[in-house]
Amino acid sequence: MAGPVARLARLVVPVACPGCGLTDVRWCDACEAAWWEPPLRCESGAPRLDALAPVLPVWSITELDGPAHGIVAAWKDEGRRDLGRLLRPAMRRGAREVAAALGPAGASSRVAVAPCPARAAHTRRRGEDLPLMLAGAAAAGLVDAGVPAAPVTALAPATGASRGSGDRGRWRAGPSLARPVAWREPAPRPVLLVDDVLTTGATLARAAAALAGSRLVPIGALVLASAPGPGKVLRVRDGRSEPALG
Ligand SMILES: [Zn+2]
Repeated sequence: MAGPVARLARLVVPVACPGCGLTDVRWCDACEAAWWEPPLRCESGAPRLDALAPVLPVWSITELDGPAHGIVAAWKDEGRRDLGRLLRPAMRRGAREVAAALGPAGASSRVAVAPCPARAAHTRRRGEDLPLMLAGAAAAGLVDAGVPAAPVTALAPATGASRGSGDRGRWRAGPSLARPVAWREPAPRPVLLVDDVLTTGATLARAAAALAGSRLVPIGALVLASAPGPGKVLRVRDGRSEPALG
């Protein structure tokens, strides 16, 4: 951005990388690099997922460290919708790399990619359904890998008043409701759940519970970023999991 209009715009609305604060860039190369690492297996760091049987494999594009946290927060809650140009391709690429690891269920039928819904008030404030946008990107990534897939709105936003914030608040908000679409499926259909971040795993656990008994069968989940935790040592390369470097 070097033109006179861009320079004027910076005087009015200063822009900076939300990952590290570097000024005059929308995001910097160093903070972007983390979004192009192989996806990370991360369910073992999420205690709320322990109760699920069978285990729900969860992959994240990157760890929810300082820079990634700043980028996701700016995208979701600080009006930096332009960061979708970074996060959507990252999600698509992540899904493409995870596709082979989904196993035969992911290759045998049309995978439903279901977003964990944001609260309705958040979607109204943002003016966009960000989880559905991520699901669309993930579905495109599966298709890139030769896996038939489509985004499906299978879960309704959590209901009930929530005065908490973050994952604890979302947990207290009560279970998400599976929409009727989950029961209209004529035959069992694999579903890849998609969310923005993984912390305790409460949201994904609630989503999987909401689908129980329907014909949408969770085979895994993909999130943008996961909180660092023990046991998250597997990255996906060429469809196989192997120890992460560093
Ligand atoms: Zn940066």
